[in-house]
Amino acid sequence: MLYVVPTPIGNLEDITLRALRILKEVPLILAEDTRTSRRLLDHYGISTPLRAFHAHNEHTVVDRIVAELAAGGTMALVSDAGTPGISDPGFLLVRACVQAGVRVECLPGPTAFVPALVASGLPCDTFQFDGFLPHKKGRQTRLKYLAELPHTFVLYESPYRLVKCLGELVTVCGPDRRACVARELSKMFEEIKTASLQEILAHFGAKEVKGEIVVVVAGKPYRPPFTCIPRIRRLSFRHCPMSLSPQPFYYSTKKFVE
Ligand code: SAM
Repeated sequence: MLYVVPTPIGNLEDITLRALRILKEVPLILAEDTRTSRRLLDHYGISTPLRAFHAHNEHTVVDRIVAELAAGGTMALVSDAGTPGISDPGFLLVRACVQAGVRVECLPGPTAFVPALVASGLPCDTFQFDGFLPHKKGRQTRLKYLAELPHTFVLYESPYRLVKCLGELVTVCGPDRRACVARELSKMFEEIKTASLQEILAHFGAKEVKGEIVVVVAGKPYRPPFTCIPRIRRLSFRHCPMSLSPQPFYYSTKKFVE
């Protein structure tokens, strides 16, 4: 049995009672960085042994771990922060467990993109999480693809590349697209700035950016095809009393608004 256990992304209080119990009860915890996880466990008085499981060894150790689990073992998997598998090691192991018929339970818990998305105030009914953009090859292709999405998208970004990333987003999405930068979520210097991409770029371009960053960008606003507009106007004048208002009908219905 494998438990995937989310851990705090900043504030140490953000860990569930169940996560603490599982981390205490399992005989072994697989950890992205054993020193980071040991500090967290020490904070909660948990002395469970740790074994390294990270991006540099996951391919070589995954088969052995699955064999131990398939033979009846139980382990928990943690990453440095947040939910394993979300821009962190975990997918490879979970997929191998599922394929081998090993039971996997992922506990609900902290992850950075959810509070960023919700606190941004941008539409969160439909969204795309895209993690880190490629640094070089494929970056522009990805940005152009994201810019055309009709729904909100979410990126992880390093503080050193934030201003460059915002500049690229202004180029592909336009300066007026609504966006949000959520910095240092759940920590002392948490900052959530929602504005146009241009305004956000000016804000973060004017100072040294520190801390951990999530970028949330609203989807491309829907523009009715040019040929539809006269027809919708005609419809509105014939059938809708709101057509007497100075705003055309297609602005007054949710269907045609972003
Ligand atoms: N597994 C984590 C999760 O579930 O969100 C993500 C790990 S990924 C290696 C680290 C990235 O997550 C950071 O570079 C940043 O983009 C984002 N992140 C993590 N903690 C954050 C925080 N407290 N505030 C803002 N972003 C954070």
